[in-house]
Amino acid sequence: MKSDLHLHSTASDGADSPTRLVELAVDAGLSGMALTDHDTLAGIDEAREAAERFGIDFIPGVELSVDHDGTKMHMLVYGIEPVPGPLQDKLAGLIEGRSVRNRRIVEALKDLGYDITVADVEKQARGPSIGRPHIADALVAKGYLETRDEAFAELLHDGGSVYFPRARLSAIEAIELGRASGGIAVIAHPKTIHLRSEDFTRMFDDLQAAGLAGIEAHHPLHDLTLRQHLEQLASRLSLIATGGSDYHGMTKREFRVGTGTGDLVVPSEAFDAIAGAIR
Ligand code: AMP
Ligand code: ZN
Ligand code: FE
Ligand code: FE
Repeated sequence: MKSDLHLHSTASDGADSPTRLVELAVDAGLSGMALTDHDTLAGIDEAREAAERFGIDFIPGVELSVDHDGTKMHMLVYGIEPVPGPLQDKLAGLIEGRSVRNRRIVEALKDLGYDITVADVEKQARGPSIGRPHIADALVAKGYLETRDEAFAELLHDGGSVYFPRARLSAIEAIELGRASGGIAVIAHPKTIHLRSEDFTRMFDDLQAAGLAGIEAHHPLHDLTLRQHLEQLASRLSLIATGGSDYHGMTKREFRVGTGTGDLVVPSEAFDAIAGAIR
């Protein structure tokens, strides 16, 4: 059986509700799934309820943007329940950091002649975790650009003219707070981490010492060779090799639930290993 351990809903920047994601996972023939919205657990209760109703196994999760020694990366933390706790209590600050940064981006856009407001951005969101994708949608809604991708390419990309960093946890904080909350941390889509191989090895040493549990080997951005390489790396380091589609809804990227761009296979052993490590 297959699973999908990386999915985004309307609680952050996905286009589909948590319930709809569960339906899509069932339609894809999956036996297990995780919800991993950016910086929020707001979709977890709805997803779990739907998963029970549709008979699919469910793991709660969250995706965090972190840094380690100046290198930015994404971290998936699994097994975090939507109740107060060490990591959970940090999420409100991350959402507040988003709101501060969204205001700065909107101001910078205004200076460039793009007349949008924070209210226009909030109108594009259906959950608490609001960011650049919703700013992109507001620019599209006002007719300045054609698509979300175009808005990123023209204006909103990392390091662009209206880019501002936002509050982040360090990778080690995310791992340690995650563990203190009963969860485990996995490095998301390592392909997007830009490090030379000796620095990559050192980073793994550091993060493993802090309690890192896994590597996302199966991701649509990874070609088959990289997926295999990361599976072997995980096995060598006694880390769990996980994976997921990073689905955000068909209106954004061509990543489908369960299959990615067509060739993604996340074995249910990955789901079972995560489920076993958090219970
Ligand atoms: P933020 O969390 O506000 O920094 O926005 C980053 C999020 O925007 C990423 O996690 C992606 O989901 C999304 N994103 C990044 N680049 C693009 C792009 N080129 N097109 C569409 N969405 C993107
Ligand atoms: Zn996203
Ligand atoms: Fe990510
Ligand atoms: Fe993601």
